[in-house]
Amino acid sequence: MTLTPKIALEEHFMHPDFVDYWATTAPNISPNLFGKARAALEDFGEQRLAAMDGIGVNKAILSLAGPGVQAETRTETAVTEARKVNDFLASEIARRPERYGGFAHLAMQDPAAAADELERCVRDLGMQGAMINGQTGGTYLDDDRYAVFWERVSDLEVPVYIHPNNPPERVHMYHDHNELWGPVWSWTVETATHALRLVFAGTFDRYPGAKLVLGHLGETLPYLMWRLDSRWEISNRGTMRLAHPPSTYFRRNVWVTTSGMCADAPLRCAIEMMGPERVMFSVDYPFERPDEAGDWIEAAPLDDNERRKVCHDNAAALLNL
Ligand code: MN
Repeated sequence: MTLTPKIALEEHFMHPDFVDYWATTAPNISPNLFGKARAALEDFGEQRLAAMDGIGVNKAILSLAGPGVQAETRTETAVTEARKVNDFLASEIARRPERYGGFAHLAMQDPAAAADELERCVRDLGMQGAMINGQTGGTYLDDDRYAVFWERVSDLEVPVYIHPNNPPERVHMYHDHNELWGPVWSWTVETATHALRLVFAGTFDRYPGAKLVLGHLGETLPYLMWRLDSRWEISNRGTMRLAHPPSTYFRRNVWVTTSGMCADAPLRCAIEMMGPERVMFSVDYPFERPDEAGDWIEAAPLDDNERRKVCHDNAAALLNL
């Protein structure tokens, strides 16, 4: 079988100095997988390239496995360490520029520094955008202090990928349910809520060109889109106003990837609700199996045009490759 050419964009790496930050997510994941993932994360050679070649991924956009410096309590350290890991990633990309791209890692504790670092990563290091691991110190991206960041994102015309992370506190509904705390459920709730905060705060009215990427086929939001429009009308929204119904922003400002979702019905749902230009293949390497993701997308219920878009063309257009 001929493999459809692919670009994958939720593919992670690790730097030894960032393992302690990453370890803050250890309680969310089986200790077995957590230990095994590190070697794969730190490899930029044979193992990673073989996994890519096996499923036709021509190019992987690499990102640090989170939360990285977003878990750092000292702002200055966060800013310095983010620059360091971006320089490290750039050096790995430079070895294989045809196979790897990168998403900048940013210290969101300092919005102006994050904006400057994003600009450096895009203009000087040739990266394709940024990946942000959820909230930082309890602050979400719809906060007014991030105006400087969204202005720069708009100027640079690059996407911001919101990757799951834990919320600032573990609320009571997860009591006695460790399995719900993490990728099974709480990360979905957290990340979908983050995206909705941006929509309902009017972020995309203020920055109509801003581009947001969500993993996991949109963190359930495509399935809920009709209801978001319908219930927004009757919600207790006070003085909140939007120029368009919520779904408009999902069709104009949001893209989703298939990372960690290998199921036909939600794929069709995302395409029907958001459009075939808005869905992009990804694996979430090494936390998901590349062959499972690759085999699935090759056989998924897509016409040839849709499959080419989902596997390759949509990402090429969004990332300006
Ligand atoms: Mn991931």
